[in-house]
Amino acid sequence: MTKIECCSLSPIWRLFTIFPNKKNMRKFLMLMIAALSSLIHLHAQQNKITALISQQASAIQPKMVEWRRYIHQHPELGNREVNTMEYIAKHLEGLGLEVKKGVAKTGIVALLRGGKPGPVLALRADIDALPVKERVDVPYKSMVTADYMGQTVPVMHACGHDTHIAIMMGVADVLSGMKKDVPGTVKFIFQPAEEGPPGTEEGGAPLMIQEGVMENPKVEAILGLHISSALEIGKIRYKSGSFMASSDWFTIKITGKQTHGSSPWTGIDPIVVGTQIINNLQTIVSRQEDLTKAPVVISVGKFHSGIRSNIIPEEAILEGTIRTLDAGMQKDVHQKIKHVAQQVGEAWGAKVEVTIETKTLVTYNDPALVKTLIPSLETAAGKDNVAEGRWTTGAEDFSFFGEKAPAFFFNLGGMPVGQDPSKAAPHHTPDFYIEDSMLDVGVKAFCQMVFDYGKKK
Ligand SMILES: [Zn+2]
Ligand SMILES: [Zn+2]
Repeated sequence: MTKIECCSLSPIWRLFTIFPNKKNMRKFLMLMIAALSSLIHLHAQQNKITALISQQASAIQPKMVEWRRYIHQHPELGNREVNTMEYIAKHLEGLGLEVKKGVAKTGIVALLRGGKPGPVLALRADIDALPVKERVDVPYKSMVTADYMGQTVPVMHACGHDTHIAIMMGVADVLSGMKKDVPGTVKFIFQPAEEGPPGTEEGGAPLMIQEGVMENPKVEAILGLHISSALEIGKIRYKSGSFMASSDWFTIKITGKQTHGSSPWTGIDPIVVGTQIINNLQTIVSRQEDLTKAPVVISVGKFHSGIRSNIIPEEAILEGTIRTLDAGMQKDVHQKIKHVAQQVGEAWGAKVEVTIETKTLVTYNDPALVKTLIPSLETAAGKDNVAEGRWTTGAEDFSFFGEKAPAFFFNLGGMPVGQDPSKAAPHHTPDFYIEDSMLDVGVKAFCQMVFDYGKKK
């Protein structure tokens, strides 16, 4: 006991030795008290802002459900989100934001200039739907069809981008109401065609960047989220560093020599060469890549060849996707695929051409930014609801923004409470379902991050 008292007194005793002059010490103590009281004031101010965010986000929850269900019922494919763009823009203009429509075809960039000095922080929501037929029996079920590359297809928000739109409209609403306290500038990016533009069209994040979305004013950091059908509502998962995979599409064209199916020795069979290539591609993953560093996936999804059972065709075409979580491994896998395919072709006397097209980069969460903003997520969702998640082999074109500024992308739960995540319908499927009763958690998260990032900058 005595020892503790002695220790606790020692810093004060030290003050007497540093300031033998009582006047100086009084001055120092006054300064300390002033600093302490301004710290208490700042803390109280922050608590006030957090409480206001929470109150406003909860208040806007019913509106967000309305917006989300309207958008869900009126889905539009990538680069065709005309009605969606108008719907969002009308809301943002009503809030008094500086709104620019038609960015990267059907996207929107809107600026909210806060009343306090601070950084330029971008918040991104993607707005496109998919050619999927909805099977979920909800009153706001999509019955929409549209033209997709010359074909009539059903359209559904089967990746949950409708919830991203509603959340971001909610964030714009709440922050507009708190404008005088908002530090710096918030740049809202509503991005079309995240799932990839149709055919050879340009679009998505790369086109937005090309059109200068990260400049003027220059974005200092960018944040985004993805709703998850397999994570319970109210929960948030994040990962520092690599979070989502890069995605490349490859095509392997094999040219052999056509002949009669009864005498294969008179030709060069591109189908057999193709099967050998597929098997060898899998050994790149299992035998040549350091899987303790990061996972790699190579999948062949298409194998087209031949027209008749007794003709060995001249040509076979393989198409597939590559997923990596490390930029160096991505490059290495590209080289190995080319090498393996060409060497196998050569061994058989076939000609092989490989083309690889990068669709997205690795979605990389800046570790310093993540560290700064984890407390904001915990404030928004509650400490127990926020945890570090695992990386995923799914891909996001948000990754392109991350090349231009420190970025942070995280997952928000959209699965009904108590459901088994292993039974939740995956994204991009007809039974995909998102519960929208807790979209306010997303609003709280973004708003809190805007204030906390502004404060720490
Ligand atoms: Zn998707
Ligand atoms: Zn998505």
